[in-house]
Amino acid sequence: MLKQAARTKLPKRIDRLDELAHNLWWSWHYQGRELFRALDYTLWLTSGRNPVKQLRDINPDKLQAAASDPAFLASYDSIMSAFDADMSDDNTWFTTKYPDVLQGPISYFSMEFAIHSSIPIYAGGLGILAGDICKEASDLGLPMVGVGFMYPQGYFHQRISADGWQEEIYRQLDFSEAPMAPVLSSQWCKSLAEVQLDNRPVYIGAWQIQVGRTTLYLLDTNVEENTPQDRQLSARLYIADRELRIQQEIVLGIGGVRVLRALGIKPALWHANEGHAAFMMLERIREEVEQGATFDKAVKKVRATTIFTTHTPVPAGHDVFSSQLVEKYFHNYWGSLGIDQGKFLGLGQGNGVGNQAFNMTILALGTADKCNAVSQLHGTASRRMWHMLWPDIKEEKVPISHVTNGIHVPTWIASEMARLYEKYLGKDWMDRHDDPKLWERVMDIPDEELWAVRQALKRKLKGAMLDWAQQRWTEAEVMPQQVLAMGALLHPEVLTIGFVRRFAEYKRPALIFQDVERLKRLVKDRWRPIQIVFAGKSHPADFPSKGLLQHVYCLATDRDFHGRITFMEDYDMHMARYLVQGVDVWLNVPRRLNEACGTSGMKASLNGVPHLSVLDGWWYEGYNGENGWAIGDGPGTYSSEEEDRADAEALYRLLEEKIVPLYYDRDRGGVPHNWVSVIKEAISSVVPKFSARRMIKDYTEQLYVPAAGLRARRHISH
Ligand SMILES: *Cc1c(COP(=O)(O)O)cnc(C)c1O
Repeated sequence: MLKQAARTKLPKRIDRLDELAHNLWWSWHYQGRELFRALDYTLWLTSGRNPVKQLRDINPDKLQAAASDPAFLASYDSIMSAFDADMSDDNTWFTTKYPDVLQGPISYFSMEFAIHSSIPIYAGGLGILAGDICKEASDLGLPMVGVGFMYPQGYFHQRISADGWQEEIYRQLDFSEAPMAPVLSSQWCKSLAEVQLDNRPVYIGAWQIQVGRTTLYLLDTNVEENTPQDRQLSARLYIADRELRIQQEIVLGIGGVRVLRALGIKPALWHANEGHAAFMMLERIREEVEQGATFDKAVKKVRATTIFTTHTPVPAGHDVFSSQLVEKYFHNYWGSLGIDQGKFLGLGQGNGVGNQAFNMTILALGTADKCNAVSQLHGTASRRMWHMLWPDIKEEKVPISHVTNGIHVPTWIASEMARLYEKYLGKDWMDRHDDPKLWERVMDIPDEELWAVRQALKRKLKGAMLDWAQQRWTEAEVMPQQVLAMGALLHPEVLTIGFVRRFAEYKRPALIFQDVERLKRLVKDRWRPIQIVFAGKSHPADFPSKGLLQHVYCLATDRDFHGRITFMEDYDMHMARYLVQGVDVWLNVPRRLNEACGTSGMKASLNGVPHLSVLDGWWYEGYNGENGWAIGDGPGTYSSEEEDRADAEALYRLLEEKIVPLYYDRDRGGVPHNWVSVIKEAISSVVPKFSARRMIKDYTEQLYVPAAGLRARRHISH
């Protein structure tokens, strides 16, 4: 795979723009985004807010003009010095608090990473978490390298046909305009390591992406040495075919370790994000055995430096392979671990407590010393689910702890909100954003000012939706009602609810339509109407959820809803930013104990959009009675048949009796003071507790530093 070095020559005075464009650091500093936008606004938009592409295509006259514009140069100098400070400063939270604890970086293995919408190698929450972790690790000075996949065709783009059926479109990424470089090569993605797949060698190259201080290595099998078929192995994310999936996971786990070794990187700790990455532990065990250790000693050694995060709250959701597939791909491998077939299969079967399938979570739980779930409820559910692996101890003692997920605040905050926080919380608010005391000052923001920013963000969303709708209208054959379903008739003054997430049955996207007439009364109310924005992709092979999507889409195009139900196509990180910032209420209705954590509601609260949710995932910890609304009771109250009916009823009642009246209760200036109180409570209670900063500090203190061992303990006892 070729990386073209077609770069525009930059004027000397601003020649570091290229360096900035190639470090995604710019994406989470609004001053960085504004700098590129100022270069050439139209090109910024048409390039998909991708500065690498922008700099490639820009008219040199614009660069010359910028290089002699004092205002541009002042921003340029200020952003470059902030960048340099963030890249080189040793005076970070981690290096100050834990000097000499880690002898190498933490390697973080994940099937997907969501860093920026121009790199579509993520499907949903798992990737968003991985991306936010890389960014926050960089901000806190925690040394980290990410290991994942470069999927040249990424995850699909979503198109909805006139009858509401999801179609998947795959586009080939143009590497010449992506902010990445092939590793150890100036142009080609060249082979760095190999793995055996069913008796044939498959060669693996890698791309490098800079995410602040964190380096991401994205594996790619599209290298010269491979057969055409194997070159396609890493083309797409989450292919349904189980055989291709085991091949991908071997490339990620075993290949990932070998690529790091080839690059001379010596991780101090190894973190597997979800079971997909668990073959990474096997490869390190094999290395120890090769060095002369017995299998048991090797496992012990590998376990001690391994962290595993589980994300799946229900048994059916775990990544499993049939034992036939595992035998096919590992019969040449178990010998090198010094064990036989039975013992090898046992690693994924939990000593016979699982069924015959090879379960990647069981493999990971057995080969990681520190295991964590991603919320308090998910911790309890995971200990219950895996108690069978530790039958001799009490359920509470099952060694799976929890660290609740958090969001990377600089990535998800609207610049308008950031400016408001700068004004009322202090210029240094971003440096202290996990301090609950800081957020008490939100109460000092005048209601009028906060409300004005909220209204501005809503108009911005409306404008973006019109742009998207117009783009669709011009570029492809769509029916007029499809354009209307994309939000052309939304009104900026109407209470707007967002239901925006992956379409999956357990998330119950159609719950609000349980009683269509009752919903219509809410939507069409003459004085106090509501409108709903839907967005989200179904997995291409998940037909029930595609059916749900079709159901919702058809209601969105139903005239009887007056154009107030909308469905936005092709949900991605970029759209997510507009939506979490621009709607009024963030709705979430998963079946209880099915949502491990969820993070989009945290992004909404950060921007002053209160959460309206079932008490599942993080909301079970986050809801305090005043910072949003809880639908129904906590887990364990309902049988599953009752749950849908009871939750729909509770949702309608909340809307009718609490939310709609509160939103439309205005003073003479049009400000809803009681609503603004909920907003303020949402911001101050959610941001410090559910930030990635708090999460990374928890990971460090509860998982990384203890796993780093003696050296760390000695340090702490000082
Ligand atoms: C935050 C985010 C998610 C995760 O949303 P949940 O509500 O936690 O499921 C998924 N996709 C995108 C694009 C996001 O930004």
